[in-house]
Amino acid sequence: MSTTDCIFCKIVAGEIPSTTVVETENVIAFRDIAPKAPVHVLVASKQHVPNVAAAAREIPEVLAEMAQVAQQIADAECDGEYRLIFNTGPAAGQTVFHVHGHVMNGGALGWDA
Ligand code: IMP
Repeated sequence: MSTTDCIFCKIVAGEIPSTTVVETENVIAFRDIAPKAPVHVLVASKQHVPNVAAAAREIPEVLAEMAQVAQQIADAECDGEYRLIFNTGPAAGQTVFHVHGHVMNGGALGWDA
């Protein structure tokens, strides 16, 4: 299932270019277009679901694979140490409503109030 107006569905379909890091049958990982850390890769399901809670409910096996892919990327790019962030809802900074985890390296977590 995909939605015609979803930018990540377009990336999955190859209609928008992306720098793919890992691709499996169910998961795609690509570099964030506006990186916030030296390593900043987005891990997304190929199937369109809006957020991590929906993924846990509807495609739990794919969500588990996303976590495995995140580890694989971190092993390759930042010695296996990383954070995996799922922004959920506009107030938490979610701007693309197609489940994706941000794989990022870096130090202490901070935020702008
Ligand atoms: P969110 O704010 O958690 O939904 O994350 C969306 C992320 O997608 C942001 O960090 C954007 O920089 C990133 N992004 C938006 N469009 C593209 C694109 O076309 N390619 C790669 N990353 C993108």
